[in-house]
Amino acid sequence: MKKIILFLALSIGINSQAQQRPKLVVGIVVDQMKMEYLYRFSDDFSANGFKRIMNNGYTFHNMHYNYVPTYTAPGHASIYTGTTPSTHGIVGNDWFNKAIGKDMYCTDDAAVKILGDGTEKEGAMSPKNLLSTTITDELRMATNFKGKVIGLSIKDRGAILPAGHFANWAFWYSKTGSFISSTFYGSVMPDWVTEFNQEKRYMNYINKGWNLLKPIATYNESLPDDNPYEGKIDKTTGPVFPYDLNKIYKEKGADVLRTTPFGNDLLADLAMKAIEKEDLGKDDIADFLTVSFSSTDYVGHTFGPRSIELQDTYLRLDQTLATFLAYLDKTVGKDNYLLFLTADHAGAENSNYLKDNKYNVKNVPTKDIVDALKKYSTDTFGADLILDYSNFNLFFNKETIKLKGLELTKVKQSFKDFLMTQEQVKRVYTEEDILASSGDDYFLSCIAKGYDPKQNGEIVILDKTGFMEYQATGTTHGSPNSYDTHVPLLFYGWQIPKGELHAKKYITQIAPTLSQLLKIPFPNGTESEVLETLLEKK
Ligand code: ZN
Ligand code: ZN
Ligand code: ZN
Repeated sequence: MKKIILFLALSIGINSQAQQRPKLVVGIVVDQMKMEYLYRFSDDFSANGFKRIMNNGYTFHNMHYNYVPTYTAPGHASIYTGTTPSTHGIVGNDWFNKAIGKDMYCTDDAAVKILGDGTEKEGAMSPKNLLSTTITDELRMATNFKGKVIGLSIKDRGAILPAGHFANWAFWYSKTGSFISSTFYGSVMPDWVTEFNQEKRYMNYINKGWNLLKPIATYNESLPDDNPYEGKIDKTTGPVFPYDLNKIYKEKGADVLRTTPFGNDLLADLAMKAIEKEDLGKDDIADFLTVSFSSTDYVGHTFGPRSIELQDTYLRLDQTLATFLAYLDKTVGKDNYLLFLTADHAGAENSNYLKDNKYNVKNVPTKDIVDALKKYSTDTFGADLILDYSNFNLFFNKETIKLKGLELTKVKQSFKDFLMTQEQVKRVYTEEDILASSGDDYFLSCIAKGYDPKQNGEIVILDKTGFMEYQATGTTHGSPNSYDTHVPLLFYGWQIPKGELHAKKYITQIAPTLSQLLKIPFPNGTESEVLETLLEKK
């Protein structure tokens, strides 16, 4: 008898170990979403979107990026690899490639070709510049490549980086209005994507135009519709509702959809189609779908964080999420999917808005910084010693420095002193400072975590808090300050306890936590610090 009980206990134990995975993991990234939006717009959200996730799942209130630059490509790479640019190598959206002496794009790959209807350049993309495995890669290997991984986004980098090196597919939006892919993933576009594209759904959204979802009084958490901190969607259209998208379409083509909430809707349409046609979450082998909503970022950059355009975009995304969740319930089953939602970075207050409210900050266009650097270089050294300034990094022309008989160390010090005289600059670090940093200085540690000596410049600048290297309207991101680093992290569904945490946590903890939940290896570049409170049993 004892033996039988022991045998039963063992077999139950083993069984519950073996089958302990969700049928589908859904990773949602909302581009440029500040944690604050979940609080500020809370009264206007429905019960079935963001609030359904928060009320029934787990909320991390104090989740942060811990490196510079807080941009889209490094953000997506860091969420899915569980490490930072210094390790995964995605040090910007685009950056100066020292080896070839010109700019490169994060997902450029000249060895692959476009699939579908778009330009050659739009399709020559793959994850080859990503130097670590992703959680999605690890799931592929752990299931012997039987669990499917598909990445979707309006932005190429938002689709490609999360899906990783071993993805079945990644699809992104072309200016033709079609979703495209590359030969990195396969030789022929799946029929269902071609059929989806043939429906030209983007035109349905464009024909409807963009008006407010709710009565204008609902938008009292934002500034008036027409305010001086808003940019324009195109040259001739003022920043006021309603937007005649057909008129803008004639000038900008299908790209107009990006800067409206409907880029998110079109993507959700594609996500639901992918689940249906690729049978995601159907069998017991876990699949992983990554969905990155980009329109929030385009709208944020153009109109700013306090525009009703932005608020409307979030109220509509809330409804889109509600529809998507209902679809997951119906097709995959309520207890069978694990979902998380986060952002690839947050975003700053518009500097001029702060300035008009008496805070002494301003926006500094990057071009002004470059001009000042070049002028200083010619005035001081009689030559332009700058190869590039981008992503807060300064690259020197070492050949010219040598030819002129100058010493690199002295040149660096000279530029360091000059930069410190610039109004927006807080600190200036050389490559040596960064590589020798101990981690005690928080902002320097953020720079070090974003610094890959093979790819970054010889000097990195830290701007003063509140200053923006950007145009006068809208907003941007990139800094290590909390307004750029503080993002939501919500977990929901399979094995997720109800709860919330206010302790500070880092974005690099998401991937290793998923590893523990799925009982699969950690991505190979991560330090594997997990979000322990989430792993405590219900
Ligand atoms: Zn982004
Ligand atoms: Zn407006
Ligand atoms: Zn952005």
